[in-house]
Amino acid sequence: MIPLTSSATVAAYPSTVSYLNPVQGLERCSSMVELKQLHSQIIKLGLSSDNDVMGRAIKFCALSNSGDLWYAHRIFEKMTEPDAFLYNTLIRGYLQCNLVTECIQLYLRMLDDCVVPNNFTFPPLIRACSADNGVEEGKQIHGHVVKLGFLEDRFSQNNLIYMYMKFESLEDARRVFDKMKEKDVVSWTTLISGYSQLGLLNEAYEVFRVMPQRSSAAWNAIIASFVQHNHFHQAFSLFNEMRSENVELDRYVIASMLSACTRLGALEQGEWIHGYMNRNGIEMDTKLATTIIDMYCKCGHLEKALEVFNRCSCKGLSTWNCMIGGLAMHGRGEAAVELFKAMELERITPDHITFLNLLSACAHSGLVETGREYFKYMTEVYGLEPRTEHFGCMVDLLGRAGLVEDARKLVEEMPMDVDSGILGALVGACKIHKNIEVGEEMGKRLIELDPNNSGRYVLLANLYASAGRWDDVANVRRLMNDKGVKKVPGLSVIEMEGRIAEFIAGGRTHPDSKKIYAKLEEMLERIRGLGYVPETEGVLHEIEEEEKENPLNYHSEKLAIAFGLLKTKAGETIRISKNLRVCRDCHQASKFISKAFNREIIVRDRNRFHHFIDGECSCKDFW
Ligand code: ZN
Ligand code: ZN
Repeated sequence: MIPLTSSATVAAYPSTVSYLNPVQGLERCSSMVELKQLHSQIIKLGLSSDNDVMGRAIKFCALSNSGDLWYAHRIFEKMTEPDAFLYNTLIRGYLQCNLVTECIQLYLRMLDDCVVPNNFTFPPLIRACSADNGVEEGKQIHGHVVKLGFLEDRFSQNNLIYMYMKFESLEDARRVFDKMKEKDVVSWTTLISGYSQLGLLNEAYEVFRVMPQRSSAAWNAIIASFVQHNHFHQAFSLFNEMRSENVELDRYVIASMLSACTRLGALEQGEWIHGYMNRNGIEMDTKLATTIIDMYCKCGHLEKALEVFNRCSCKGLSTWNCMIGGLAMHGRGEAAVELFKAMELERITPDHITFLNLLSACAHSGLVETGREYFKYMTEVYGLEPRTEHFGCMVDLLGRAGLVEDARKLVEEMPMDVDSGILGALVGACKIHKNIEVGEEMGKRLIELDPNNSGRYVLLANLYASAGRWDDVANVRRLMNDKGVKKVPGLSVIEMEGRIAEFIAGGRTHPDSKKIYAKLEEMLERIRGLGYVPETEGVLHEIEEEEKENPLNYHSEKLAIAFGLLKTKAGETIRISKNLRVCRDCHQASKFISKAFNREIIVRDRNRFHHFIDGECSCKDFW
């Protein structure tokens, strides 16, 4: 019978494979189809139990991206006398697929078969033990490394350090490290990262200090540890030191530092890093682009974020999500919706985060109907079931718009447990729209759910205060004291000439504190002239987050603004980030200051940005 494919064609254009020696063909092989063809030719040539030839086939199947581990395993099983290379290759293949038990079993079989392990055998085995928390196996393998004479092998030693750190056996890790005759950068950075993972920053730092030659990877290991543990100041001072030593900044250090800038709101430093990337031709990938956009958004420079976004040629889903989130945070709801539409036109499939950011954009800009539509749309069009966070956004949206009953209904309809964030949003809305009944019920539930969070008590107390129920305010206060709930102290941060200054309410530790307080008085004097009246009413009865133990005038952000006015040139924007919500009085004062001193003031609080320009705020007094 004539086969359906024309044999003439096959003869005229023989596959490239058949013209090569199949053994050489293995080196160029690029797919499993090709490999299987070569394999059958090798069998015909009678080479199917040649370790050298089949080693190449196993290597392709076990380690390359287009390989097939199962096929590697089958070839291996047919080998009559597999050698160490074959064992090692398959062990690595198993490790790549996270089959850690299989790695160890194969090693045991290797020993049973009397095949002598070599220096390539141990690193993947030690990794396998680390991944599986195989403490006993790991120690035994360590014993074999010693017995078989591989104590001088750096790869094995470095992996042992990693393994013991992973097991939290600090002494063992340290012993391996100290005994090493020739430590390389990997040995040092493994130790540094290991200490850092366990939260032992001082130890990590000490190791870093005595390290003989600090590569960019070592700098990154220590900087990343400080960033991960929120010690941003140390990260910045190390970063400055790194720059002064002219160590080249790689993309990892850049990513670590950008996230430090983002967390601190340190725009100048962030801009410098962005500029450094451009000057030194550090290639932008999706991840870095997204980190930069996020940094500009969260440091209050939305225009710059948009510029980077528009120029970026490697936008991924995370990049779109980040930009939509940025617009949301800055109260640019319509723009966020437009961007979402553009994203759909580009055929990027949105995910849960996209819709979360989109709904939060609608909430921050009061787009009630649009928000309701997208809440349905995510399930109907993309099959994404709303999660707790999405319900939270909707409750916030409805609550802000005064639709408190609708919001409460949505809470009751939630298929999952309601969380404290959602209840908090609802109580806040009840306070603003004076729905005391719903607010009280939800506020009590909220305290039950999250009894150690001072903010929850503050919320309920303020709700009572707005209704003039002072006895209840006092009761909540007492309850909070009885339970020993501590409040988070207010902290405002301002970046100036690349340095970061922190202010706490009433703090006087700053070296310029006399001048700052003088400027503060001048500031208040001037805005009083424009009609500013301190909101003492609120302070008498409400529990504001930055307590009345500190007079209103000395709230941390007022100090930070005074410092900003003192240290910047006329017309420069003042940027502040704050760990709590902005209080009403500071919000009011900031509006007046922006007018009196003709300054743009950008405050990032716990939830959002406030752009104060010419006596107005971008949040339209709703936050
Ligand atoms: Zn305040
Ligand atoms: Zn505002």
